[in-house]
Amino acid sequence: MADKAEFDLIKEYFTPENWRKDVVLGVGDDCALLAPPTGQQLALTVDTLVAGIHFPVETSPADIAYKSIAVGLSDLAAMGAEPAWLTLALTLPDINSDWLQSFSKSFAKTSKDYDLQLIGGDTTQGPLAITVQAMGLLEPGLSMQRGNAKPGDLIYVTGSLGDAALGLKLLLSNTSVDQEILDLCLSKLNRPVPRINFARAAAKHCSCAIDISDGLAADLGHILDASQCSAEIYLDKLPVSRQLEKYYTNPDHGKLEVDWKLVLAGGDDYELCMTLPEEQSAALVSLAESMALSLTRIGRVGSTNGLQILDENRQPFILDKSGYEHFDNNG
Ligand code: ADP
Ligand code: MG
Repeated sequence: MADKAEFDLIKEYFTPENWRKDVVLGVGDDCALLAPPTGQQLALTVDTLVAGIHFPVETSPADIAYKSIAVGLSDLAAMGAEPAWLTLALTLPDINSDWLQSFSKSFAKTSKDYDLQLIGGDTTQGPLAITVQAMGLLEPGLSMQRGNAKPGDLIYVTGSLGDAALGLKLLLSNTSVDQEILDLCLSKLNRPVPRINFARAAAKHCSCAIDISDGLAADLGHILDASQCSAEIYLDKLPVSRQLEKYYTNPDHGKLEVDWKLVLAGGDDYELCMTLPEEQSAALVSLAESMALSLTRIGRVGSTNGLQILDENRQPFILDKSGYEHFDNNG
């Protein structure tokens, strides 16, 4: 449904030129029409970001637009899909042209950067919420699924963990820290980089992946549930950034005292967790090297059930998620 003001709004801000050959009809009719390449599978995902729940209300419109696309791209990456199209359902409290200008500019740039064309959506009035459906293409047989982990597989994660959760913690607590720590953590929180190119190439070697949106422990847990396996991971192998290490280095005696709960259970990392047999792991490692992407082996899949986290003395580390302050994840 749209009245005149909403039609004008859609026309002004959300009607990109048709630049993908497989879009027969884009924004403007009752439905978009697509001509997907014969023989490819479609990968579809949808996520809603609600102001004050999935992002702090002060977040800039440009960052909200970027992140609403990035979370969908991260899901496409986790399957190994190639990004293709987007729809956008936007619920706005009012028509604020400055806000819409920055939001739509960032939305258009981000979608173009990742070859995603906006092909439709819906516009409604209400508390600010952004729903993005991202659609992609996959070669049959080359998808990375949560249920494909096997006992003996090695477990890898891309990038570093915990920076976004630390960024949110710093924002909410207004703590003053070194600028370089704040810059990195806020950029991981507001501008997560979906691992699209790596994932598409990785799907040739690896059949099991998930994107880490709810924290490694929960998301690796989804792989283990779907695959009916167990896993052992090691705290001292978890990749953390130099900035996070700096934040958690005790100034009195220089000892590293990382908050492992934040690294394991903090949300919004949008890195990938992947499992694959040892024989295939060299190919994955060299692929990551060739793309200058950090890829870290953090543990191994087993044949029982549950996730076992071991500390540096190889003693069980019990993850207590209670009392944790963070915004809800973005799914
Ligand atoms: P309908 O009533 O048929 O659902 P709408 O009036 O809601 O149609 O929308 C008109 C056209 O504009 C449709 O093509 C729809 O996909 C598109 N559209 C509406 N809102 C958005 C938006 N926020 N971004 C992109 N396209 C939109
Ligand atoms: Mg509609």
